[in-house]
Amino acid sequence: MLNKKALETRPNSVIVEDFDKFLKEHGKRRTPERFKILESALEFAKQFTIEDLIVAMAAKNFIVSKATVYNTVLLLVEAGVLRHFSVDNRSHYERADSVSFIHLKCEHCGKVKLVKDPNFMAYMNARKFMAFTTSYYNLTVYGICNDCARKIKQLNRKKNSNKKVK
Ligand SMILES: [Zn+2]
Repeated sequence: MLNKKALETRPNSVIVEDFDKFLKEHGKRRTPERFKILESALEFAKQFTIEDLIVAMAAKNFIVSKATVYNTVLLLVEAGVLRHFSVDNRSHYERADSVSFIHLKCEHCGKVKLVKDPNFMAYMNARKFMAFTTSYYNLTVYGICNDCARKIKQLNRKKNSNKKVK
């Protein structure tokens, strides 16, 4: 449910307890690996991929197979700890209790910048759709980044000066 309270981040200790309960209730194994993966996932302030998670864990000398990380992340989504979405057909994850980022995607280089917009958020939180209950939203804004805009400007300038030489 999307409301103000749902957008306040929950303490990590509460999330760990809830995940433990979820595993028990669903008859899943409560392995130390799963809790280590949860702990690492909660450390990300931004969205991340499975690969990002593996790299972050390896940096702490915690080596787990990709399959274990993947399966645990699926469980974390099922348990409502993480939310999943696609950017360029790649799976990304973020804390389900965090404010949704707006993705600013450059159509030239493909870079994605993440921003938060409190006004947009307030609008979306108040927005009701007919016969539909919003859990979260994921907005991508397409355009051109400043780096690409600068490069294109320089290219055009070069083209124009070449013309003059001719
Ligand atoms: Zn760009």
